Amino acid sequence: LSALNELIGLDNVTTDGRKVNIYANIGSVEDIENVLKYDGHGIGLFRSEYLYMDRTQPPSEEEQFQSYKSVLEQMPGKRVVIRTVDIGADKQVPYLLNETEQNPALGCRGIRLCFEKPDILMTQLRAIYRSSFYGNVAMMFPMVISVEEVKILKKMAKDAKEQLIEEGFECNDVPIGIMIETPAAALLSERLAKEADFFSIGTNDLIQYTLAIDRQNSHMEDYYNEVHPAVLQLIEMTVQNAHKAGIEVSICGELAGDIMLTKQFIDMGVNELSVPPAAVLKVRKAVIES
Ligand code: PEP
Ligand code: MG
Repeated sequence: LSALNELIGLDNVTTDGRKVNIYANIGSVEDIENVLKYDGHGIGLFRSEYLYMDRTQPPSEEEQFQSYKSVLEQMPGKRVVIRTVDIGADKQVPYLLNETEQNPALGCRGIRLCFEKPDILMTQLRAIYRSSFYGNVAMMFPMVISVEEVKILKKMAKDAKEQLIEEGFECNDVPIGIMIETPAAALLSERLAKEADFFSIGTNDLIQYTLAIDRQNSHMEDYYNEVHPAVLQLIEMTVQNAHKAGIEVSICGELAGDIMLTKQFIDMGVNELSVPPAAVLKVRKAVIES
């Protein structure tokens, strides 16, 4: 670990001069401590649904605003990507899910739950726009499968911002990204790229849905092949379509931390790898040695 600590403060640049952002994934304000400790240069994925868990009602706009503001103030000038709530499937929030589903991973999760309960998303969007005054915040939507969904979500974001401005709040523009974590989104990435400011590839779900393997079923571990050629092909296709449209691509699923793949990702043109805070320096080493 001490050898890795020598990489604190260094850029993420390959021997031939290619640069990659190495950001961190967090689930709470407290996680920032480790991001700073391990020198993450930004937050590539704030799993905001953790703010909704282990309680009996959703966090208010004010409470969310304070959380986002606190993260932004501890990361001055640094990009912080808030993923809008991805409740459902492996992230259970009983007070928001009305019935048990037979296949929760294929059910009402992520933006689907937000379409069913738009107040939940509007409250969060308002909190995100209010926080935009305090730093370099972006947002992204989970579980997208169509262009139409993105258009509706962007309209909701626009409405939230307009409400706030009318109420006298100061807010900045907030870049809007799409998580590419369903095969449908990867296959439609050429069209989705025209609607998004950036992509972030969620490989945990992309693998699960591409291979039809439950990511939580340890009995299926042998089938959960992260480097299945179908998965890598979808990733490469997504990167190419993003760049064709002039937007950047991040990988924020666990695969981003697999140092056996770092060079391959850089060769594909991936712009950012977002990993757990404790993995930042390990991936930096892999980049520098690439
Ligand atoms: C993913 O699916 O890869 C991802 C980053 O999101 P989560 O693990 O929170 O579903
Ligand atoms: Mg996911």
